[in-house]
Amino acid sequence: MATDATSMVTAGAAQRFPQPVEADRATALQAYLADHDHACPLCGYNLRGLRGMRCPECDFALQLQLAIVERWRAAWIAGLVGLAMTLGANLLGLTALLGAVLLGLRSSSDWAVEVLILGGPAAVAGTCLALHLKWATTFVTLSTVKRWLVVAACWSLPMVNFLWIMMLLR
Ligand SMILES: [Zn+2]
Repeated sequence: MATDATSMVTAGAAQRFPQPVEADRATALQAYLADHDHACPLCGYNLRGLRGMRCPECDFALQLQLAIVERWRAAWIAGLVGLAMTLGANLLGLTALLGAVLLGLRSSSDWAVEVLILGGPAAVAGTCLALHLKWATTFVTLSTVKRWLVVAACWSLPMVNFLWIMMLLR
């Protein structure tokens, strides 16, 4: 049975666009490598003049792909680390506190406030982390300066959090 691009379209928003069929992919890959020197990403073998879609040296399947040239990933990950660190530290604190309460090392009167002191920043960091993940595509479109301002904001959170805990927990 012959397949064409339109027959590959399936229901659902994620696959609105027809995906190129295998033959198109092979044609595009071979057309590119017909007059380009390009090393196999796995073994480094020069793929110029490739026939088929596998490296003749390591037999790894290959495809031609588009990528975003803009360098945004490092900044985005840096922001992610700042937020995840804040969330992780507070959740760790809450876990330690819960352990201390369960072991009877904390009296029942003073730990409730500490739950709020640790839980508040955890909620803020968790919300910021969710937004950072949700708005990743918007982050890519920002200018370099704006991107690093977002990173600075993400990293100000653990600083403020540290001062907050030092102040309130003595
Ligand atoms: Zn190879």
